[in-house]
Amino acid sequence: MLKEHKINSFPPGGTSVQYLKGIGEKRARELVKVGVETIGDLMQYYPRRYLDRSNITPIKDLKIDETATVVATIQTCGIQKGKRARFVMIVTDGSGSLNCVWFNMLQFWQKKFKPGQLLALSGKTGYFGGKQMVHPDFDMLSDDEESPYSRDEFLHTGKIIPIYPSTEALSHVGLDSRGFRRVIHWLLRQYGDKITDTLPPDFVSQLNLLPFQLAIKNIHFPESFHQLKQAQTRLKFEELFMLEFMLAFRKHTILQTQKGIVFSKVGEQTKQLSEKLPFDLTASQKKVLYEIHADMKKPHPMYRLLQGDVGSGKTIIALIAMIIAVENGYQAALMAPTEILAEQHFLTFRCYLEALGIDIRLLIGAQRKAEREEILTALQNGTCNIIIGTHAVIQQAVSFQKLGLVVIDEQHRFGVSQRALLTEKGLNPDVLVMTATPIPRTLSLTVYGDLDVSIIDELPSGRKPIITSWRYENKREDIYKFVKSQVAAGRQAYVVFPLIEESEKLDLKSATEGYEKLRSGIFADKQMALLHGRMKSEEKDAIMTAFKSGDLQILVSTTVIEVGVDVPNATVMVIENAERFGLTQLHQLRGRVGRGGEQSYCIMIAKYPITEDAMTRLKTMTETTDGFKIAEVDLQLRGPGEFFGSRQHGMPELKIANPLTDSKLLLKARDEAFRIAGDLKLKDEMLHYLNQNTFYQSYKNKIEMMRIG
Ligand code: ADP
Ligand code: MG
Repeated sequence: MLKEHKINSFPPGGTSVQYLKGIGEKRARELVKVGVETIGDLMQYYPRRYLDRSNITPIKDLKIDETATVVATIQTCGIQKGKRARFVMIVTDGSGSLNCVWFNMLQFWQKKFKPGQLLALSGKTGYFGGKQMVHPDFDMLSDDEESPYSRDEFLHTGKIIPIYPSTEALSHVGLDSRGFRRVIHWLLRQYGDKITDTLPPDFVSQLNLLPFQLAIKNIHFPESFHQLKQAQTRLKFEELFMLEFMLAFRKHTILQTQKGIVFSKVGEQTKQLSEKLPFDLTASQKKVLYEIHADMKKPHPMYRLLQGDVGSGKTIIALIAMIIAVENGYQAALMAPTEILAEQHFLTFRCYLEALGIDIRLLIGAQRKAEREEILTALQNGTCNIIIGTHAVIQQAVSFQKLGLVVIDEQHRFGVSQRALLTEKGLNPDVLVMTATPIPRTLSLTVYGDLDVSIIDELPSGRKPIITSWRYENKREDIYKFVKSQVAAGRQAYVVFPLIEESEKLDLKSATEGYEKLRSGIFADKQMALLHGRMKSEEKDAIMTAFKSGDLQILVSTTVIEVGVDVPNATVMVIENAERFGLTQLHQLRGRVGRGGEQSYCIMIAKYPITEDAMTRLKTMTETTDGFKIAEVDLQLRGPGEFFGSRQHGMPELKIANPLTDSKLLLKARDEAFRIAGDLKLKDEMLHYLNQNTFYQSYKNKIEMMRIG
C-alpha cells in the first residue's frame, strides 16, 4: 500500500516512487536510472508502443527477413548444450510454430519462461530448420491474478496493450514491460481519479484538449486508438507548452527587467573598416548586421543567434559588432571551440584592427605564464579592447574592466554552462551566438526558442558549388593523382583522417600512418605537414601560417580542422574513412574548401563494406551542398535527441512530443505560451496555477537550469 502519511497532496507528483506498493527501495534505485523518481514520473512513463490485434501476424504468415510481432504460447523451452549453448523455445499460436533462440543469459531465461505462458514476440524472422527468431523482443502477456489482462481479454476483446520501455537491470527487478503494466495499472486504479489537471481547466477546454487525468489514463490503457490519439495530443501539447512557456517567460523577463547596455554610436572606426574590406558585404550580411545593431542600441541585453551555412561569412559580422562595442567604450570577447580557430580569428582580426588603433589579444590555454599575466592585466585595466580565445577566457582568473559584448563562435560546440560563465563576466552584456548548423525552424523554436534569430541565407557571390563524390578504397590511387594535379595547378589540399575511437591516441595513429604513407609515396616531392590536436600551440601556429601563406601544399590532419578554418586557396578536401563521419561533420569539413573563386572538390573515401545509414550520408553529401537539407537528413537519421544532445543544451528532454513531426502542435503551443507570457495578468494567473502543481515542479527545475549564456 501507498504509505499515505508520506503524502499530503494529490497528485503526489513529487513523492518518491519507493513508497508505492510493489516498488520499494531496490526497484526505486533502478527506476531513478531511467529518470523515474517520483510518482508523477511513473505516471508519465509512457508506453513506447502498443499491441493490438491489427498489428499481430499469425505465425503461418511470417515472411523470412521481415520484422513482425506474433502472440503465441510456449510449448516447450530449455537450454540446449552443444558447441554453442543456447536457450531454445518453441511457441505456437494455432496457425503454426516458431523457434526462438537466445545465446546469452541462458540461466536467466530458464528461470523466466515456462510452458503455457502467453507471449508477444517481435523480431526478424529467419530460417533454421523452420521459422526462427533470434533474440526477439518479447512481452509477457500471461494471465495471472495480478495481470491487468487475462488471456481471454486479450485474445477476444482485442484490447490495446501498452508496451513499456525497459532495461536489462529493470527486468531483473521484475520491471519488464509486463511489470510496468501491472504497477502502473494498479497506480491508476488506486489513485487515477485524484489526478488534477496540470493546466488551468478553462484553458484546456478552450483548446479542445482532453483533461490531464483522462489523458494519463488513456495513454496507458486506451479503449480505442481514437482515445489514444487524443491522449497523445493532449500530453504532447502540454510538454511543448511547458517548454515554450518557460522560454517565453524568460524572454519577457529579460525584456522587462534586465537593464542592458545602449550601444548608440556607429562611428569612424566602423566606417574605416568597411572601407578596408576587400569585398562588399552580401545583402544577407547587411540585413543581419542591421538586426544586430538595432538590438545593440536597445536598453535591454541582446540574445541573438546568428545562423548561416558554412562559408556564408559570419566572422566579419562578429568583427563589426565587436568594433561597435569598442567604439562605445566597452570591451568585447569572442570564444571559439578550438585553439586553431581562435588563432585564425585573431590573425584575421588583427590585420583589420591594428590600423584602427584597437587593441586585440589572444588568450589560449597553452600560453606562458608571464604572457598570460600580461593579458589578464590588460583586460582588467581596460587597455585590451578585444579578446579572442578558447574556453581559456572563461577561467576564473579572467576579469574584464567593462565587458559589453560576448560572441560565441560555433556555439553548438560549447556546453550551456560554459556560455553562461562568459556572460557572467560582464554586467548583462549583449550576446551573439553563431552557428553553422542550420536546423529546421520548428526545432530551433525549442532549442533556441528564447533567442532572436538572424539568418545569413546566401553565400558570397562568385562561389562555385563544390563538386563532391565518394569512392571505395580501391580508387584511392586515382584520387591522389587528382589531388596531385590540383596541387600542380597551384591549389592546396586537405587530407583528413577520422576519429577511430573515442581516443585521441588512436585517432592520431591513423593520421600519422596515413601521413607517412603519403609523404614517402605519391606526395614525396610536395610540401606537406601533419596537424593534430596534441601539438604545441606554436607548432600548430607555424603549420597553419605556412599553409595559409601557401608554403605548404598539402595538409594532413585529424578532425581538428573541422570547424572554421579558412584558407581560400585550398580547393581539395579528401576525407579518409568517410563512412565513420556524421553528416554535419562531413558538411563542416567540406566547408573548408570552396571559399575562394576556384572550383573546389570534396572526395570521400569509404572502406568497404558500409552500413545503409553511411551510404545515405555519403549520397546526401554528393546530392546537395545546402546545409539546411543536410541537417534535415541528419535529423531523420539520428532523431532530434541525438542530433542536439539535449544535455549540452540544457534542454528538458521531450518524452512524447517530437518537434519535427508535431510541428503544428508546437506552433500552437508556442503561440499560446508567448501570448500568455506577454500579458502580465495572464502570466501571473498561469504561474500561480503551475506553481501549485507537483507534476510541474520537476519540469520547472529542469528548465531553470537552461541558460543560454
Ligand atoms: P563562416 O560563416 O563559415 O564562419 P567565414 O566568416 O569564415 O565563414 O567566411 C568565409 C570566407 O568568405 C572568408 O574567407 C571570408 O573572408 C569570405 N567572405 C566573407 N564575406 C564575404 C563577402 N561578402 N564577399 C566575399 N567574401 C566574403
Ligand atoms: Mg566560422
